[in-house]
Amino acid sequence: MVKKDIIIFGKPGSGKGTLSKDVINGDTAVVHLSTGDVFRQHMKNNTALGIEIKDVMDSGELVNDELTIAIAEDFIIANKHKFIIFDGFPRNENQLIWLINWYLEEERPFPYFVGLDISDDICIERLSSRSISQGRPEDADVKIIKNRLNIYENETGVVKDLILDYIDIDDVHILNAGADSKAVYREFMYAINPDR
Ligand code: AMP
Repeated sequence: MVKKDIIIFGKPGSGKGTLSKDVINGDTAVVHLSTGDVFRQHMKNNTALGIEIKDVMDSGELVNDELTIAIAEDFIIANKHKFIIFDGFPRNENQLIWLINWYLEEERPFPYFVGLDISDDICIERLSSRSISQGRPEDADVKIIKNRLNIYENETGVVKDLILDYIDIDDVHILNAGADSKAVYREFMYAINPDR
């Protein structure tokens, strides 16, 4: 049972989406925010936002904070009576600070923080194969994947250190994401609820 929101944090291809789905597993009290999925949906539907972000998405760079935070804000306001799993947000310092302030204003308990630990090589392998099976063109090109991993290292990596300063250390769980997804899920459930 999840009792708080969850921020899942990890490189592209580390399994954030899969863990989110395994945790929800039909539980209607829990919702999943993947900013990447929201952006891809806009691109697929050719909305004004989708057209605006296409070049950035294709290059593997980050969409600007104003647009990204607006997407996150709409979602969390609409879903604040549920537990929210954040997958791919926050991804830089600005986004993290915005989100922390929202928790403080709402007096909402800080989320569990889950880091999915994985090597670059496994990420590259996973992303290349899912680009074909899931129709995600930004995952097809190894050069773009490496760019995304670099951005993760440079911009998103610092979020982890900042989170350690904000969130009670007991609620930070770093999992080995190189294992198969069921093992990652079991490790996560044990980490948040060791007395089960
Ligand atoms: P993802 O599926 O989470 O790997 O996201 C795919 C792409 O969407 C990223 O490479 C970015 O271009 C964009 N994106 C997703 N989430 C964010 C975010 N929090 N901030 C900026 N850009 C994002």
